[in-house]
Amino acid sequence: MKPRVFVTREMSPEALARLKQHFIVDANQKDLPVSAKQLLRRLKGKDGAITGPTDVINDAVLARLPQLKIVCNVAVGYNNLDVAAATKRGVMMTNTPGVLNDTTADLTWALILAAARGLSTADRAVRAGKWKRWKPMEFLGQDIYGKTIGICGFGRIGRGVARRAMGFGMKVLYASRSRASESVEQEFRASYVDKQTLLRESDVVSLHLPLSPETRHYIGSREFALMKKTAILINVARGPVVDEKALVKALKARRIFAAGLDVYENEPALARGLAGLPNVVLTPHIGSASVETRLKMANMAVTNCIAGLTGQQPQNLLNPDAFKAS
Ligand code: NAP
Repeated sequence: MKPRVFVTREMSPEALARLKQHFIVDANQKDLPVSAKQLLRRLKGKDGAITGPTDVINDAVLARLPQLKIVCNVAVGYNNLDVAAATKRGVMMTNTPGVLNDTTADLTWALILAAARGLSTADRAVRAGKWKRWKPMEFLGQDIYGKTIGICGFGRIGRGVARRAMGFGMKVLYASRSRASESVEQEFRASYVDKQTLLRESDVVSLHLPLSPETRHYIGSREFALMKKTAILINVARGPVVDEKALVKALKARRIFAAGLDVYENEPALARGLAGLPNVVLTPHIGSASVETRLKMANMAVTNCIAGLTGQQPQNLLNPDAFKAS
């Protein structure tokens, strides 16, 4: 009897076909939203799950799914998974690191430039016929070339953002849990500083931290008070890393110049007042959303699932102890 797998979200036909060669697959290809209740129902009796970042697999869910052996997240961030609980229960969990670095770093740069130059406000003005004549003092933004960027979380994506900043002649500061090696610092011409120094000195503050209890509200009113009035905040990490209410206040009061956001505290809902602000650029959690990268992510999750359910250690296993115990 082949193992059974539930795929919670729409997936490329190519990756799905690979999965179907090995398993009996129940796929939510219509991509209709799956409630927590439906998720549990469709995962009952399944050996594997291919999940997205909005599917919460915590201890209570795992407790009701004794047959489940592996959960393969199609995302690098895995704050939707309780890895410690899964390890205790011998359930493997995997993510998709690496393949989305450049795509996500590109989107970060799209937001940096769009926020610095007020692209969405300018675009809306042109479309609405509000642009009547060229004016010397209208739509004035901030320069980026030659300025200072502060990267919070100097991992795979943070370094991708730093690499691009070199092309813009920027000074690169970073604050992270651990200091990078000297050779990495030289490669990216990056200086390790504490968080306060980074906030005080950066023209662009870009967040690339995972969401964890330590990073929740990493940026809030105290941090906005330290930032330059001309600074731009970019969040392509996870919504709760920023206190969104405090951000609305800071943007309204022009405490900072602008923000570019791809993620939100209560996605897809926005904090009250955010959508009406002219100095924020908003994208709908599309950091890794390119045709090539989404296919790579799906294939990576499928490869992890095939390995895990055929007795091999998946390459992107988050909890090796669960494999050892299997
Ligand atoms: P990564 O390589 O693990 O990098 C994360 C970095 O943050 C690491 O350098 C890590 O330090 C550091 N860090 C962790 N906890 C910290 C803390 N409490 N304080 C300071 N630094 C801390 O991860 P990645 O692949 O770059 O991805 C980063 C995050 O981006 C993901 O977790 C995900 O949530 C988000 N993301 C979003 C999108 C999107 O669509 N918007 C797409 C992809 C990823 P260590 O070196 O000590 O571990």
